[in-house]
Amino acid sequence: EGESVAVHQTLAARVLIGRGACGRVADEAARLGARRVLLVATPSAAAAADRVAEGLGERLASRFDRPVPHTPVAVTAKTVATAEAAAVDCVVAIGGGSAIGLGKAVSARIGAPQVAVPTTYAGSEVTPVLGETEDGRKTTRRDPALAPGTVVYDPDLTLAMPPGLTRTSAMNALAHAVEALWAPDATRYTDALATEAVGGILTALPEVLAAPRDPGARGRLQSAAWLAGVCLAQTRMGLHHQLAHVLGGTFDLPHAELHTMLLAHVMAVNLPAAPAAGERLSRVAGPDPVAVVRGLAQGYEGPTSLADLGVARGRLRDVAERVVAAPYPNPRALTVEEVTDLLNGAW
Ligand code: NAD
Repeated sequence: EGESVAVHQTLAARVLIGRGACGRVADEAARLGARRVLLVATPSAAAAADRVAEGLGERLASRFDRPVPHTPVAVTAKTVATAEAAAVDCVVAIGGGSAIGLGKAVSARIGAPQVAVPTTYAGSEVTPVLGETEDGRKTTRRDPALAPGTVVYDPDLTLAMPPGLTRTSAMNALAHAVEALWAPDATRYTDALATEAVGGILTALPEVLAAPRDPGARGRLQSAAWLAGVCLAQTRMGLHHQLAHVLGGTFDLPHAELHTMLLAHVMAVNLPAAPAAGERLSRVAGPDPVAVVRGLAQGYEGPTSLADLGVARGRLRDVAERVVAAPYPNPRALTVEEVTDLLNGAW
């Protein structure tokens, strides 16, 4: 600090947040000059999408309701063809990261502005990043054109989220903020966001799990996840995200569950080498942040270990070798032995 030049650049985005915000989506599309809207929504968001469709009236040109996880390019190509045939000039996406990803992919290809309405805590709606899959291979690209210009957070869309998804998706958001704290390109701005995000998630998640339909608690969790998403957009992620990407890609494992089971293990390994991150975490999580995160992960009623997810123990060393061969930026370098040990712990 004070010895090198920090560069901080933010994305331009208009964010609406609060109960009933979803009712403003049609106005937001109109504000963008939209006359021919493509509406993308997952079945879980069908009721909200119906209301948005009604609000759009004759400005709704096309609707697609089968987004697929990890944005397969074949699905994107079909949706782009439909959008072009319908002369679409604006994309509205409602749902989890899968719907938001498809909205980003289509919008970037047809050059239309987008309104993202997230219903999970994954954070994709505020990032300029898109992961796409083709022939089983996942590639990730970063381009400011991918980031939605308008984001609408309405906690009412999250009230029916099942407790399991609520927990794992919030842990996914938590991981963005934790890794931002030890990122090589962290700034005072991202430190502030990340600290607020961690504190907000650790406070609001238990409240939401105790009262899943409480809009106040849902709103606090959603706004903390928003800040965590901005952390993901503004900093380079480290070992935790690399493990999630390599394990998820190799064994086709569920994104949010992986984040949930890995985070405490990575924190235990990294925090001794990241004292400033540890100090900030302790400020909002108490003296033992690793134990707090481990407790939240262990409370999950679904799979809580790599073994539960069906990963063969014998494959862990191979994963460790791939991680160590091309590491993401991390507060400390790890050996193949150390990464294998970490994975064995998560196994
Ligand atoms: P998802 O979109 O696949 O949703 C998971 C499941 O939950 C789906 O069945 C969905 O229909 C359901 N669901 C979503 N919201 C719900 C709600 N409010 N109530 C009830 N059910 C609901 O999963 P996700 O975790 O939101 O997103 C994961 C995807 O997003 C992955 O493909 C991941 O790679 C991507 N992602 C990308 C970025 C980025 O910056 N590019 C960031 C985070 C995640």
